[in-house]
Amino acid sequence: MWKPGWRNEAWSELTRLFDLIVIGGGITGAGIFREASRAGLRVLLVEANDFASGSSSRSAKLVHGGLRYLANLDFKLTLESVRERERLLKQGQGLVMPIGFFFTDYAGDWPPGWLFGGGLVAYDLLALRWRHRHIPLAEVRQRFPYLRVNRLQGGYHYFDAQTDDARLVLRVIEEGQRDGCIALNYARVETLLSDREGEVCGVAISDRDPGGIGRTAEVRARCIINATGCWTDELRSQVGGRRRLRKLRGSHLLFSAARIPLTEVVGFIHPRDHRPMYTFPWEGATLLGTTDIDHTLQPSGPETDPALDLAEVDYLMEAADDIFPDLKLGEDDILATFSGIRPVIDTGQINPSKESRDMVLWNERGLLTVTGGKLTTFRLMAHQALRAVRKHLPGKPEFNESTRVLDCQPGEVDLPVDLAGERRQRMIGRYGNRVELVFSGSRAADLTSIGGAESCWAELRWSAQNEAVIHLDDLLLRRQRIGLTLPRGGLDQIGAVRAIAQSALGWDDVRWENEQAAYRALIGKSYSVPGRSYEEVHSPRRCICPEISS
Ligand code: FAD
Repeated sequence: MWKPGWRNEAWSELTRLFDLIVIGGGITGAGIFREASRAGLRVLLVEANDFASGSSSRSAKLVHGGLRYLANLDFKLTLESVRERERLLKQGQGLVMPIGFFFTDYAGDWPPGWLFGGGLVAYDLLALRWRHRHIPLAEVRQRFPYLRVNRLQGGYHYFDAQTDDARLVLRVIEEGQRDGCIALNYARVETLLSDREGEVCGVAISDRDPGGIGRTAEVRARCIINATGCWTDELRSQVGGRRRLRKLRGSHLLFSAARIPLTEVVGFIHPRDHRPMYTFPWEGATLLGTTDIDHTLQPSGPETDPALDLAEVDYLMEAADDIFPDLKLGEDDILATFSGIRPVIDTGQINPSKESRDMVLWNERGLLTVTGGKLTTFRLMAHQALRAVRKHLPGKPEFNESTRVLDCQPGEVDLPVDLAGERRQRMIGRYGNRVELVFSGSRAADLTSIGGAESCWAELRWSAQNEAVIHLDDLLLRRQRIGLTLPRGGLDQIGAVRAIAQSALGWDDVRWENEQAAYRALIGKSYSVPGRSYEEVHSPRRCICPEISS
């Protein structure tokens, strides 16, 4: 919880010596921050933009055991991922939720159905849960009546999990703060500071909050960890590290649930290059992705939101049309788009999808870099990183690697009666121990949905007041996801958003107008079909497909 005045207070504390500085506020940095704060270290996390504004709000939102690692016979990685998935499902209920996967089996597909089925046997054995099954053609046609039928033979059903990636990052960081550590967004590391031996011993940061422009600080710590995702090379170059990463862009399209109504994930093979594709329900909309291409032609600093190009729109629409030919989806049906950049190690593969997505640790002149890996395994990555810096922290307690990943959720919660069942669980998952505060004093109107999205007005108010929002896009794209799941970036709701957020954020009219204009431009540039302004994104068309049975 970031109370009013928190930024000035945090900046005033930067003169002290920290045990650890974590650079980067994505899931990797958040996990390290959380685990180190739990061990009683004095930790500072600095993020150049908003928390989770990098890849960690732009993933496919799947918390998965890594079925694809089995194709490389990497049982260890699959086992670790499966265990982390199970841990997150148990401890993050409402935020990490189980979801059924249906993978289609078409004659001629690679891998063939029997091989995929074999992989699922191993997958379930590693999780010690027997939950997959083959679905015969007749049942597939009944459950998914709008799938292409030509060559369809049946499919396989299994379980993984999904989350709201940006909320997961925020919850992990917020829980670390409660242990007395400091997390600052909009604080960019400009330069690494070195001691006489040339070992990195601190960072020079600049404030990017409009209220603190010009403010800078030099902060020192016993250990410095570089968790800047696909931007790690930029900081590594300051200690002589050569470029090691390849930035690969992955883009998604969002459709309204009325146009692609799904209750679980549908996986299939892209007809053009045979890559696996997935489409699934998320936050009341339907996601479809993803692409995997070199991110070279756009500005690629952490301050720029990546955008998909027209070739990616064509690729994704080709996939949509191939799997759901009867839905007759067109570009007008696209609610929003978003792109993320995968930090992968460059081994010079011609096919980007063949590059390894493993986690790596590099220690260069006292700067420990942690990158690669997955959202799912962030806790394991955090412990590996902390083990690597342990020798610089004499006298500090050992890290306990078997503690909870998320704090205990409240058992008995006194929430407004209207919040029951799944909706209640969702709120507890998103806000953890703070959930009662989010809804204290809420009236019935505060619990209504924002324009049909899953978020309600009470959440928007809470986020504006207590969740370190600096710009309007922090609020509408990451604290709440209405910028992605409502048409036109949620701008149809902007009057009501303003009525709540402007005073909560203490913005005068000029600041509000500037924020709104910047948000509108951002939606047009990075979250819409290229070349189409947000005004041209039409309201979703009515569903033309039959009802599905779950
Ligand atoms: P980031 O989230 O990118 O965070 C790095 C942060 O560092 C950024 O916020 C950036 O602003 C900050 N930064 C950069 N430079 C500086 C500086 N100088 N000073 C301060 N801060 C700085 N994983 C899964 O488990 N499941 C999935 O379904 C999945 N799907 C994916 C789909 C796509 C398209 C992509 C791109 C990734 C996917 N992943 C998935 C992988 C996962 O999203 C990433 O591994 C993870 O988010 C990386 O987190 P990170 O914290 O290392 O990097």
